[in-house]
Amino acid sequence: MPVLTVRITATGVVQGVGFRPFVFNLASGLKLAGLVRNTGSGAQIVVQGETKNVRRFISKLEKSKFAAKYSCKEIASKKYRSFQIKKSKKSKVLSEFPSDLALCEDCKKELFSKTDRRYKYPFVNCVNCGPRFSIIKKLPYDRKNTIMSKFKMCPACREEYGDPKNRRFHAQPNACPVCGPKLSLFDKNAKLIAEREKAFELAAKLLKRGKILAVKGIGGYHLMCDASNKKTVEFLRKRKNRPYKPFAVMADINTAKRLCEVSRYEEAALKSPAAPIVILERKPNIEIQSISFDDTLGVMLPYAPLHHLLVKEIPVLVATSGNRADEPISAAEKEAFKNLSGIADYFLVHNRDIENRSDDSIVRFFPNASTKKIIIRRSRGYVPNPIATSTADSVIAAGGDLKNNFCVTRNGKAYLSQFIGDLADRPNMDFYSESVQKMKSFLEINPKRAVCDGHPGYASTQHFGGKSLKQSFAFHHYAHMASVIAEHNLKGKVLGFAFDGSGYGEDGNIWGGEVISFDSNKFVRVAHLDYFKLPGGDLCAEEIWRCGVSLLHKYGFDSDIPKLFGKYDWRSAVKMIDAGVNSPETSSMGRVFDGISAILGIKTLATYEAEGAIMLEAAANRTKSAGNYNFEIEDDVIVIKKILKGILSDLNKKMPNGTIAMKFHNTVVEIIDSCCKQYRAKTVVLSGGVFQNMLLLSKTIEKLQKKKIKVYFNEKVPINDGGIALGQLYISKMHSKNGKISKK
Ligand code: ZN
Ligand code: ZN
Ligand code: FE
Repeated sequence: MPVLTVRITATGVVQGVGFRPFVFNLASGLKLAGLVRNTGSGAQIVVQGETKNVRRFISKLEKSKFAAKYSCKEIASKKYRSFQIKKSKKSKVLSEFPSDLALCEDCKKELFSKTDRRYKYPFVNCVNCGPRFSIIKKLPYDRKNTIMSKFKMCPACREEYGDPKNRRFHAQPNACPVCGPKLSLFDKNAKLIAEREKAFELAAKLLKRGKILAVKGIGGYHLMCDASNKKTVEFLRKRKNRPYKPFAVMADINTAKRLCEVSRYEEAALKSPAAPIVILERKPNIEIQSISFDDTLGVMLPYAPLHHLLVKEIPVLVATSGNRADEPISAAEKEAFKNLSGIADYFLVHNRDIENRSDDSIVRFFPNASTKKIIIRRSRGYVPNPIATSTADSVIAAGGDLKNNFCVTRNGKAYLSQFIGDLADRPNMDFYSESVQKMKSFLEINPKRAVCDGHPGYASTQHFGGKSLKQSFAFHHYAHMASVIAEHNLKGKVLGFAFDGSGYGEDGNIWGGEVISFDSNKFVRVAHLDYFKLPGGDLCAEEIWRCGVSLLHKYGFDSDIPKLFGKYDWRSAVKMIDAGVNSPETSSMGRVFDGISAILGIKTLATYEAEGAIMLEAAANRTKSAGNYNFEIEDDVIVIKKILKGILSDLNKKMPNGTIAMKFHNTVVEIIDSCCKQYRAKTVVLSGGVFQNMLLLSKTIEKLQKKKIKVYFNEKVPINDGGIALGQLYISKMHSKNGKISKK
């Protein structure tokens, strides 16, 4: 009988996902001998046996569910007696730095099976699912290096853990009701009320009764309440000081489909191990009690076993991060009690610590069941998976200050951190420096260089200043553009549109409506939105009527100001502009969206970031085609005077808001299109927070593709400031190639 020995190298996601037990069982079933072990880049398999069985093994392996590539080579080899799972080779097993995984189907079955020893146990997990990144103290990923080290496995768990045929073979967080973590319920004065099943049962009852609970999950706390209880939701809004910002909800897939349109790609994302929040289109006539005020709804499926148990009791739960506005998600109980006691009525917690905090990730798909999506927040479930891009080693990219994710490199891979948030807040800054330290120690790196935003006042820029690191700078909008170039590995000449709320520009002004050309070693701002003033500075991002007043004043439509903004102190705003007092210049597209939203009376005050623009998009979405306005590009400056004129005239004609909003969106697409013509673009990149506007993004891409222009945007990192760290890395690599470190 012909005997064949083949060595198979598997690269991809094969560690911490049950790959070795799968291989073991497959090989044993086919009576093959050999071995499987993890390596630094994946896994290595040797199979030996009858030729037809080896072939069958390879074909079954290739058809298996693992996201891996296999290369096979016949080898001359000694004779193996049996098939074994061998210890990892003693290399730096960096790929064993896994992200948190949502509960798998097998464990879910056990969770709801009355005869199972883990029936209703909120911490059930296996090698295919469970917490990972959130519990790791140091690498390699081994139980003793996680917060699970404090739980001694009972004999039954230990047996599973040691059995290569078992789904829990080397499942580091393996636990059961006998030996593992337990739930506790506290009242808001931190008084213990109940434990274990009692705690859960009581918590479910309290939620049904309309109470708000802080619930400890995987990467932090959620504030949860019954989404169908309007009064409770309003309470939560009041207590969280969040009058209009949409809340994400947690529901099972059937409920999600009842509430929203769910394409099969959206469904796949919802059900993926990362289990992000997916921004879905809400079905017409479905209103769930002041959860969201535009036509979308952020939905996530239950991902921790505790969530599955809760959703069985309360089908739609508000699940918003357990933080006070603008503070990082609470992880430790002490912190949670301190921060959330004014918001939550009760605390459902557990004694499995959270070593690394991370918020829920957020993605949004293009309309019409497209496969394409953008990432709005990249955190739990995606972190710390590296981003495939070639990059310089030993660099830390500081990120931006408003929606911070930083990025470090190792062995040519870029590791984007979890979402940190707004660094202007002290607690976020602490979270930032703590996370930077941790990431360095996990990856055993000591970066020699830091690349920071060009803004001299940014906390992140200052954090890395005056240290032993060589500091270089990347201007905000160039970094936006570079992040797309890095992601897609683009070569040659590229025209970029970096549209966002604000970022420090090369001339010291606040940029945000930038057209940038790049030719493989240099960024040149070729055109930009006409500067206008922001009376009150940063205040304009909230009091967005100020943007409206400023735009009207700039282009001589002063007579329209009193009737549109009579209830605000527009006179002082105009005075500030004319006197040049606290009125910085900006070319921000985000602020133009705000200004138009205010002029249309859709939103004049924003209670959360970009509310004006979001509601403008929502208004436009309720309309069909609508035409567009005129505009001018004079000496590389985009002048919107004619747009305003058109809008004011349409307002006079009592044209509906939605139609005007749609015409405005169409016009921005036209602006991009005519810049492409003027600067002869063949390849275009789009980046910046303004492109979270799905209507604008999809229309722009559609228009340019019709002209045979190649269009790219951020797909692996957030399209907002959460992605600029990757662009900073790219720019830092350019600097080092050019042999210089740019000093400002
Ligand atoms: Zn599982
Ligand atoms: Zn146990
Ligand atoms: Fe930005």
